[in-house]
Amino acid sequence: MQLTVLGTSPSFPNPGKATSGYLLEESDTCLLVDCGHGVTSVLLSVLDPRQLTGIVISHMHADHFLDLVPLHYAYRFQYRLERPLPLWLPPDGVAILDRVIDVLGLDARMFADMFTVREYVPGEPLILGSVRINFAPTTHFIDAYGMRFSGEEGAGHIGYSSDTAPDERVVGLLRGVELALVEATEVRYAEPGEGKGHLTARLAGELAREAGVERLLLVHYPESMGEEIAAEASKGFGKAAELARQGRSYTV
Ligand SMILES: [Zn+2]
Ligand SMILES: [Zn+2]
Repeated sequence: MQLTVLGTSPSFPNPGKATSGYLLEESDTCLLVDCGHGVTSVLLSVLDPRQLTGIVISHMHADHFLDLVPLHYAYRFQYRLERPLPLWLPPDGVAILDRVIDVLGLDARMFADMFTVREYVPGEPLILGSVRINFAPTTHFIDAYGMRFSGEEGAGHIGYSSDTAPDERVVGLLRGVELALVEATEVRYAEPGEGKGHLTARLAGELAREAGVERLLLVHYPESMGEEIAAEASKGFGKAAELARQGRSYTV
């Protein structure tokens, strides 16, 4: 299974970079996981978007889904799809997307022709081609879901925390994965209690250590603080944590 990082920014873009987006490839399956602002541009620089076999969104914050709008224009004006692409949203995601389509004056029918929009059931695994996805709710400001991707016949596991504060359910989801993408939004909380929806770098490392993951990739981090974030996360992890790099691919 191969993962390509399309963006590593937190809710605001690091200069010249994209927010959350990942490409997950396993044999004939090619999934876009999250599509935050800036992601479509990076996606188009690494593949023809007609190669995607599905899109899965972890939660309905702008830095995780809003580039579905420019992506839909890319399909509309340049990369015509032969059949609609499955788009999997979290529970209640369809109503939120409908409101976005409405308020931006997009052509809802055109959008529906492009995407088969459905909501996943977080308590059930989602099988998309050669990839199995298990979900776990996270602790965030809105409903959000971490994901665990398993390759064919259980070979290769990649975990993704989505956005979360410390949460045992996320630890359980990421248990023993070869590669874990864990958000490290803050170097440290400015005030106690501020961290209700995100992890500090140290806590990201501790979460990964508790889950027993082999390799920790830090995502959703402010690049200006990158060195400090990697150092803090490594202390929590007990071994070297790495900053995920936009455009780089990782194989398990
Ligand atoms: Zn986010
Ligand atoms: Zn969020």
